[in-house]
Amino acid sequence: MAAVSQSTDKNDVVSAMSKIVDGGFSTKVSSRGLTSKKEINTTVHEAKPGTGIVFVVTNSDGEAIDIPARSEFVVNTLRNVVLGAKGTRLCIIEHLMAAAAFWGLEDLVVEIDGPELPLGDGSSAIWLDAFKKAGIEKRAVVAIIELKQVVTVTKGDRSITAIPDDKFSVSYLMDWNHPAIGKRWHTWTVANAVEDVAIARTFGTLKEHQLLGLEEDVVSLTEDGFTKPLHWDDEPVRHKLLDLVGDLALLGFNPLKLKARFISCKGGHELDVDLVKKLLPAIG
Ligand SMILES: [Zn+2]
Repeated sequence: MAAVSQSTDKNDVVSAMSKIVDGGFSTKVSSRGLTSKKEINTTVHEAKPGTGIVFVVTNSDGEAIDIPARSEFVVNTLRNVVLGAKGTRLCIIEHLMAAAAFWGLEDLVVEIDGPELPLGDGSSAIWLDAFKKAGIEKRAVVAIIELKQVVTVTKGDRSITAIPDDKFSVSYLMDWNHPAIGKRWHTWTVANAVEDVAIARTFGTLKEHQLLGLEEDVVSLTEDGFTKPLHWDDEPVRHKLLDLVGDLALLGFNPLKLKARFISCKGGHELDVDLVKKLLPAIG
């Protein structure tokens, strides 16, 4: 497979910025951070082939720390995917990871001056809009990486299975005890528009969003419905697919290159990352 460099040595701090393509694309996204409440500035740069996605995070000491977007750098998956290196953390990476995968990008250096990526409306739209505004064309991804065997991860009644196939696809079964959701099933394949999943927004309860001061920006669950009109009736399950694609990008290459069908039953970030770790030895 197209393995990326596994280097984690001290020179990474210098090397990530040196992997930016001279004259390549770059685009800026600025937005208020979800937890830090500060304006967060990010710049996404085109990087040389083989770089993968590397975050360059300026921490509170003003140091720029390289954090490669790979599963071994994941330090938390409770609410969102948090990466960490050398004592510096970066939260909410998954929606940018998904946007990059859907847009056919896999070599990026992303500079951030805070501890989290902008949330936008809770989907990947903020990133897709930035790519479009910067004139970055969507690139076709060809499935070329074979999955050598069926890989399954389970936890309680949750499971994700990856099955060898001739192209990439993801399916998700959701079963939420909420009158407007319940059991939902959705599949995305490369024949579908990326926006069918990429602009699906995250969901949380109104109470939770009010605590975070987010209720104006994102869509929230009330006791029997939603605070804003949905893009689709099954938007919550589509967002789960967005998260799965973003988490699969922690393999270190664009997951749409995998000749595999993914079936997630009530999966989430923790199980997604477990799957990535188990997939790595099963691809060739
Ligand atoms: Zn999400």
